[in-house]
Amino acid sequence: MVDRDVVRRRLAELPKAELHLHAEGSMRQDTADELADRYGIDPIVVPRDYPTWSSFSTLYERCRSLVASLDDLRRIVAELFSDAVALGTVWTELHLVPHLYKGRLGRVEGLVEAALDGSRSVSSDGGAAGGLILGVDRNLGRAEALEIANLAVKYHDDGVVAMGLTGDETTSGFADFVEAFDLVRDAGLGVVPHSGEQGPPSNVRETMERFRPDRISHGVAGARDGGLVETLRERGICLDVAVTSNVKLRSVPSLREHPFAQLFRAGVPVSLNSDITLLAGCTIVDEYELVVREFGMSASDLGAIASNSLRHARANGDLLARYGSRIDAWVEGAAPGHSPDG
Ligand SMILES: [Zn+2]
Repeated sequence: MVDRDVVRRRLAELPKAELHLHAEGSMRQDTADELADRYGIDPIVVPRDYPTWSSFSTLYERCRSLVASLDDLRRIVAELFSDAVALGTVWTELHLVPHLYKGRLGRVEGLVEAALDGSRSVSSDGGAAGGLILGVDRNLGRAEALEIANLAVKYHDDGVVAMGLTGDETTSGFADFVEAFDLVRDAGLGVVPHSGEQGPPSNVRETMERFRPDRISHGVAGARDGGLVETLRERGICLDVAVTSNVKLRSVPSLREHPFAQLFRAGVPVSLNSDITLLAGCTIVDEYELVVREFGMSASDLGAIASNSLRHARANGDLLARYGSRIDAWVEGAAPGHSPDG
């Protein structure tokens, strides 16, 4: 029996990117407790799972309500980027949806600048090891989508790398967001909407046809349509999957039935992510550990998943060229208890 701590240390040594992480839902529990105490808000108690989307979004909004100043946002982001180092995450892309603050912390520009400040504060050379994905919620409309797109372009040189789309995908359409995604794509930013989390496979197909994404957050519903899996593979669209989050939000019937390994083995580029570190109760290292334990993935599989995350990151430089040889060495060394091919 291999010591679990040894396995986790080895998994933390694998260079990888976290491409799907939401700022407020991923704050440290200690920070959440401290902010709740400071502002006289009930503490965040994370449940075992979320039977409905609204049970999840209600708790997410309570996390957001803990962010009561731009300094709070700056601090949460700085802590996430700092924690990433210990997890072996060499690049982090953080989702932020400025309009959901509803003007509570001032203009949307202020939120973006505070989050960018937080991301830079942990880097010794002044450059963040990652970037921001500015998102729009599906309940908002065309005007807000275009405002976010223009904001993303404006802050592209400062560390905004992509535009996202979040929220309940069962209650809204696509038309309001097409123009905004066209705008950011033309400006050289990434297009990384959520899709195929709660919604059906047809949402993933429509997302692909109408938004022409570089990556899709989740996308796991796509696994239920063989033709769609083939299209995802052919077009090389990376799915930024979060297994524990999908189980806890009941996007899949059970962990055993999660299609992560099926998508990987079908040749679809997949990355592994925590999505909501606090609310799902997992880090990216937990997710790598989970796919070994539950899906029998090998060290070489993990190396390929980490390589996917670096290849599809919206970084300026080529992260895979920079870290590829370290991944190869990691696979050759093999995680304890697992041979490189086993
Ligand atoms: Zn997400």
